[in-house]
Amino acid sequence: MPMFSRILQQAKGLIQSLQPCQLCHADTQHRHNVCADCWNSLPWLKSPVLRQEMQVLAACQYAYPLDRIIQQFKYEQQLQYRPLLAGLLKNLRYPKVHAIVPMPVSLERLSQRGYNQSLLLAKDLAQHLQLPVWQPVQRLKQHSQKGLSRLERIEGIQQQFVISEQPKAHYRKVLIVDDVVTTGSSIHALKQSLEQLGCRQIHAVCLAAAE
Ligand SMILES: [Zn+2]
Repeated sequence: MPMFSRILQQAKGLIQSLQPCQLCHADTQHRHNVCADCWNSLPWLKSPVLRQEMQVLAACQYAYPLDRIIQQFKYEQQLQYRPLLAGLLKNLRYPKVHAIVPMPVSLERLSQRGYNQSLLLAKDLAQHLQLPVWQPVQRLKQHSQKGLSRLERIEGIQQQFVISEQPKAHYRKVLIVDDVVTTGSSIHALKQSLEQLGCRQIHAVCLAAAE
């Protein structure tokens, strides 16, 4: 590393270590913008949960304070939490894959929020793992799934996912990145589209698993 960029990086690290923790605001930052205590007391899970007959690796449980942080990151443009949330994903161990596939959002959701929160996290994880981000599947208008039976919900979600006309690349082993997994029906639907594209090993990771 050239000397200038090394000095720059050290300076950045020093400035960061003097910043207050984003969660408690009392201690200074240790890693991913939070202090060591706050990092250690996150509702860690670091294990797979079973959803729709699929193992989904979850960094944490969907519990305080992470539930609020994720909601603010997703719906309130609180993008300062991006390094912390990406840090949760970087803290896990992964099987060998060829590409990272973020959970797509519909154009409608994208224009409401201005960004796809899963894509931001996928980009950071992809950079960390030195892998490409692959987005071969689009999502059509997302309807409310409230009041539907389990089967209607699964069918409804499945119809939202469509393969982009001609994906530029093909990867056989991929890792899906999503923010929160609840029933797992979105991940299941995306997995089926990826299987249609010829993917043979499809893994999934999420920030948090809700009951
Ligand atoms: Zn703290």
